[in-house]
Amino acid sequence: MAAARTQKEPLTLLKERLLDIAHLSTAGAVLSWDQEVLMPPQGADARAEAAARLAAVVHEKMLALNEGGLLSKLARRAARGELAGRAAVIARETWRSYERQAKLPRAFVAEHAAVTAKGQHMWATARANDDFAAFAPWLARIVALKREEARLVGYHESPYDALLDTYEPGMTAAELTPLFDELKDFLIPLVRAIQGSSVRPEPRRIRGRYPLAAQAAFNRMVAGEMGFDFDAGRLDESTHPFTTAFHPTDVRITTRYRERDILYAIGSTIHEAGHALYEQGLPAAAFGTPLAETVSMGVHESQSRLWENMVGKSDAFWRHFYPRLQKTFPDPLRRVPRGVFVGIMNAVKPSLIRTEADEVTYNLHIIVRFEIERGLIDGALAVRDLPAIWREKMRAYLGIRVPNDREGVLQDVHWSAGYFGYFPTYALGNLYAAQLFAAMERGVPRLAARLAAGDFAAPRAWLNHHVHRHGKTYEAAALIKRATGEAPTSRYFTDYLSRKYGALYRLGTR
Ligand code: ZN
Repeated sequence: MAAARTQKEPLTLLKERLLDIAHLSTAGAVLSWDQEVLMPPQGADARAEAAARLAAVVHEKMLALNEGGLLSKLARRAARGELAGRAAVIARETWRSYERQAKLPRAFVAEHAAVTAKGQHMWATARANDDFAAFAPWLARIVALKREEARLVGYHESPYDALLDTYEPGMTAAELTPLFDELKDFLIPLVRAIQGSSVRPEPRRIRGRYPLAAQAAFNRMVAGEMGFDFDAGRLDESTHPFTTAFHPTDVRITTRYRERDILYAIGSTIHEAGHALYEQGLPAAAFGTPLAETVSMGVHESQSRLWENMVGKSDAFWRHFYPRLQKTFPDPLRRVPRGVFVGIMNAVKPSLIRTEADEVTYNLHIIVRFEIERGLIDGALAVRDLPAIWREKMRAYLGIRVPNDREGVLQDVHWSAGYFGYFPTYALGNLYAAQLFAAMERGVPRLAARLAAGDFAAPRAWLNHHVHRHGKTYEAAALIKRATGEAPTSRYFTDYLSRKYGALYRLGTR
């Protein structure tokens, strides 16, 4: 009896402290959502100040989690198997995030914040001026800081692993490298075969004006039918579409409408709604603990990509929605058959810019970045050589010539912000998505027919059962294995692309 009580009390105390942190973090998320969606331009400086102070309070509270050794004692007991399931997850995962922050000295954190803030500014100017040389010294400083961070955090094989761990806990460069090499060997010939195909989607056939109010109504309808709960969330507009969750009962997504482009908003709305279903599907009763947190960036991206690509760009999905889209925008869609529309939506074309890439070439953009950042962190590559390396890889993998650094090595914000280890999670999301979707096809009878009938409840329930409700109970690889019966592999993604693009581009016996 006495033992049971002493076992319960530290955990209760920990949960109280975690809840405190969670509510403060929510306040920070509201500030940042407001900044992207509603804030007037002159509010920027004051908002940045408020956000920084709030972040500092959260950081202090995070470090205070282990006051009196509260957290370390619980984590040790979890490691020895002395805590039951949910308690063990809370102790293990809270320790994981605490330990990383505790290993970084205050001076390092301050320097990292200052250099990346200035670095992002220098990057934006360098990109506007197409001037890599102006950014290079800053990038070199950031790389040095990230190498220092890896040393402080610790790693087994590669310093890159310590950075990857922030975004995809448990994943290593040694696991990623063969996964990506297989993918590269498959994708490069597939892109060439598609380019050699006589099938040519004709985007000009859907060119026209798509009034914004009608687009907004259509997008709301699609998100709602997917199961996005408008009583527990909102859909707004912002320059860069994103998802943020204040709580499983209040999840915000944004999209962006372009009057002359019907596809952009639909794709981004479905993508963000996929992220949102994950957030709305977390167990609200466990809010504040890792049991109500998402597993990793890769698993998060798998949810958005599964809905955006495997569902939202499928013929079945448009069997359901296309008649209504045609009715909403009779000019020009009345004259465009569904098959033509779906073909345009899935057009494959090597391009310079990652964020505009189709689902076949997208992962090659990621592999270029992964190989470069791993080289920078391992010390095998030098910053000054990046423009040339970038051009060479883009030519070798995508067959395209990079005319300038603005549309080349300078296009992404990530490195200037210190986000080394982030890029691979986009590609992992695509691989996990295909593997989950294949398991869903086995687990949900007549899936395509259901999608064609607008019945999204079964796929949503499948994802909730296998992914959402578990929070951080399992690491990504274990979660995927439980859901699909197999460790993460690139095979389902390559099978999916072969089937889909083989049919769309009539690639014969590929
Ligand atoms: Zn996403």
